[in-house]
Amino acid sequence: MHVEVEHVPGRVTFTLEPAAGDEVGRVGLARRSASFLVDAPPGGVHPDVLVVAALLCARPWVHRRRRFSCSVPASRDLADALHAGPRLRLANLGDGPPRHTPADGRPGLCFSGGTDSVAALAVMPGTTRSYHLARRAPAGERRSTLMDGRAALESCEVLRQQGHAVTVVPSDVEYLADPVGFPHDLTTAVPLLLHADADRLDAVAWGAPLEATYRLQRGRFRDYAQSPFVAEWGPVLAALGLATCVPVAGVSEVVTSTIVARHPAGRAAQSCVRGPGLGRPCGRCPKCARKTLLAASISGAWPPDRVLERQWRGTESRQHLLAEPMKVEPVLAHCAHRYLADGGGSELLRIVAAKAGPDPRAWLARSYEPALELLPARYRDAIADRLHEYALPMSADEEAAVRAYDVTGPDPGRASAQEDLHRWMAARPPRDLTRRAADRVRRELRARRARTDLDAG
Ligand SMILES: [Zn+2]
Repeated sequence: MHVEVEHVPGRVTFTLEPAAGDEVGRVGLARRSASFLVDAPPGGVHPDVLVVAALLCARPWVHRRRRFSCSVPASRDLADALHAGPRLRLANLGDGPPRHTPADGRPGLCFSGGTDSVAALAVMPGTTRSYHLARRAPAGERRSTLMDGRAALESCEVLRQQGHAVTVVPSDVEYLADPVGFPHDLTTAVPLLLHADADRLDAVAWGAPLEATYRLQRGRFRDYAQSPFVAEWGPVLAALGLATCVPVAGVSEVVTSTIVARHPAGRAAQSCVRGPGLGRPCGRCPKCARKTLLAASISGAWPPDRVLERQWRGTESRQHLLAEPMKVEPVLAHCAHRYLADGGGSELLRIVAAKAGPDPRAWLARSYEPALELLPARYRDAIADRLHEYALPMSADEEAAVRAYDVTGPDPGRASAQEDLHRWMAARPPRDLTRRAADRVRRELRARRARTDLDAG
């Protein structure tokens, strides 16, 4: 794979030139180039940053056994970090110095507008700058998606009004892949990376909570320090003079939801990426269904059973409950138990509680302190202090319970609850099939109308 990088005023474009055999694997390559609209001037982005940005756009189509070629030469330090971390080799090396961490730097945050992202911002230093990747369809693109970016743009505006520095970076990078989506989990960091020099950034932050960082949502604990984000890409970002900073890595979605419920920045938070605006979630997607449970478990004000059950009966949402393990299971378990403790009578939530086993509440509402050790030293104490205003440190026993978390083994009680769940769902087929078809038509019409070239936008 070769990537040609072009930086003209206002825009950085990565053009992918795959060699024969590069287009294998699970993700199709639908287009050849992706652009980011940036404020950074040409020549104002360190070459190593451009190389990493190019890789994060092209990663699914880069073979480990072939050297990755980029029109911009990389430093020896970056080449070593890419080889030691994600085990990628570079073809084009220069003799320039690596990027140095600015002495008077500030952290940057990859901002999505979701609960975890806003919660991360709420506990980060006031100097933090946020960068939001705003999806733009390229000219002539026919594929449409369920995503609606309007709520996230409104989130950015709310934060600006509160005095936060927010940069919105329109990009069509998600259209490289087929199906449409980010080529790599860290592609959302590219807007931040491209502004790292102009804005003197010294850290890259994002808002992943405990369930994701320690992989509890996959059913079993895995140390975050061993994750690709830290073990593979941490050294690469460090070679760019950027420390990795995940302020909410040690707290669950229960805590991030509490933070956004109490902090002023919380007005900018919306988990749903399908609703037409901030404060207008779609009310039908799995994120909305989980959010309803979380909000009610924090406030104690539960919607009627039929409303709760209807949200989980949709074609997609039901799969989150039927999956093994359930999607973000510790949070669902806690919400279901909380609901039953408050006297709720839904049969569905009773089955969910039975499937998940005991309420993990004790540790779910506290901070897993080993996560704080992975924060950059210069920001660690301030972030920890803010975080502890919302979640006290776990006890040694609670930390042990997190490490022992495992719902993947055989469990007769769970198996029987799973059968009940299948029965309950089978008796209540999804009613949203016609509505989904109508939505798709509406979406395609909207995409056709809004099919603006990046030049125009
Ligand atoms: Zn939704």
